[in-house]
Amino acid sequence: MFAQRLAQVSASATMKVAAEAERLRRAGYSVVDFSAGEPDFPTPEHIKAAGKQAIDDNFTRYTASQGIPELRQAICDRYKKDYGVESTPAEVLVTVGGKQALFNVALALFDPGDEVITHSPYWPTIPEQLKLVGAVPVIVPTSPSDGFAVHADALIQAITPKTKAIIINSPTNPTGGLIDETTMVAVAKAAAARGIWIVVDLCYEQLIYEPVAHNLPRVLFEIHRDRTVLAGSASKAYAMTGWRCGWTIAPKELSAAMNVIQGQSTSNITSITQKAALAAISGPQAAVGVMLDEYRKRRDNIHGWLTANPAIKCVKPRGAFYLFPDISSLLSPGGVRTSTDFAQAIIEKEQVVVTPGEAFDAPGYLRISYATSMEQLREGADRILRFAETLQPKAAAAR
Ligand code: PMP
Repeated sequence: MFAQRLAQVSASATMKVAAEAERLRRAGYSVVDFSAGEPDFPTPEHIKAAGKQAIDDNFTRYTASQGIPELRQAICDRYKKDYGVESTPAEVLVTVGGKQALFNVALALFDPGDEVITHSPYWPTIPEQLKLVGAVPVIVPTSPSDGFAVHADALIQAITPKTKAIIINSPTNPTGGLIDETTMVAVAKAAAARGIWIVVDLCYEQLIYEPVAHNLPRVLFEIHRDRTVLAGSASKAYAMTGWRCGWTIAPKELSAAMNVIQGQSTSNITSITQKAALAAISGPQAAVGVMLDEYRKRRDNIHGWLTANPAIKCVKPRGAFYLFPDISSLLSPGGVRTSTDFAQAIIEKEQVVVTPGEAFDAPGYLRISYATSMEQLREGADRILRFAETLQPKAAAAR
C-alpha cells in the first residue's frame, strides 16, 4: 500500500522504550529517564529574548529558503573564529535541525546503489536516511578496546568503486568518541585522491570535555575543500532542540542544489528561530561553557557510580552527553538475554529508561544520556546497580 522506500526503513528504536516509560509515568511511578537525546537546560535567556523580539517585530513571514543572510554570515564567522576556516554565505544553507541538513545532503548527492561509508556504533538516522534515498550504508565497526576510535585504514579499506561519500560523526552519538585529526587527514587524503565526498556531522562540536586537537573543519578545508560538507546544529550547543535550526557548509554548487530540494520541501526554517539562532551563534558563548562544565561533572559522576560494579564496563566519553556501557557480562541465555531485554526489564523493575545498544548497531550496550539532573543521575545509577546485582548470579552461573 505504501511506497517501496518504506520497506527499507526502520522507525526510531527509542520509541518503544519511550512509550513504555510514558505509560509508567501516567500510572504514577517515579520514572528516571536516561533516554533523552537533548539538553535538559532551558534555552539561554538572550536567545529566547531574540526569538520574542522577532515576534514583536513581526518577523513572521517567509524568508529566503536558504536562511536570512545575516544568519548565514554569522555561521561563517563562527567557523572562522572556532576553526580558522573561511567560508561564504553562499556556501551555507540553514536547515530544520542537523537532521534536515543531513537529509538534504543525502537527497542531493546519493543515487540508488551508491555506497556511503560510515562508522558504528552510529546514530541510527544516518543509515536510515541513506536507505530512504536508496543508497547503501557501508558500516565500519569500531571497538570499545580503544575507546571506539575510528581508524582511517578501516574506512579506506571499505572504499569500492561505488563509494560516493564517507560520513563521519564526531563527537559521536552514542559513544562520545572523537575522531582524531590525524585520522581525518588520512581519510581526507584518500577521499581526495578518489573524488569521494566527506560529510562531517558536527552536531556535538561544542561538547568536548578535555582540550584536544579536533579541528576537523580545518583539516578538511585544507585537503578536500571542494568535496567537504560540514553539518552543524544549534540544538545541543545552545539547548535549542525544539527551535529546529541546523546548517550545512558545502561547496556553493552543492549548497544551491540542496536549496532547490529544500525550496520544494520545507522552504525556510521558522523565521523566529532564525533570529534566535543568530543571537545564539553571534552572541556571547558563556552559556555553552557553563553547560559543558555541568555535563562534565555529570559524566564523571555517573561514570564513576556505574563502573563501581566491574560487570559494567565503560569507556569515559570524550564528548557529547552519552555514556555507552558494555553490560554484556550481565546477560545470560535463560534470563535477560540481550540489551533490549535489559532495557525492557529495567523499565518494569526499576522504572529506569535507557536505550538498548541494538538501536545503534551495538548489542550488549546501553546508551545512557546524562543530560539530566545530578539527582536523577544518582537515583538512576542506584537503581541500575541494584538491578545489575539481581542479574549477576544468573550471568555467572551461565558461564
Ligand atoms: N547528529 C547527531 C549525531 C545527533 O545525535 C542528532 C540529534 N540527536 C542530530 C545530528 C540532529 O539533531 P537536530 O536535528 O536537532 O539538529
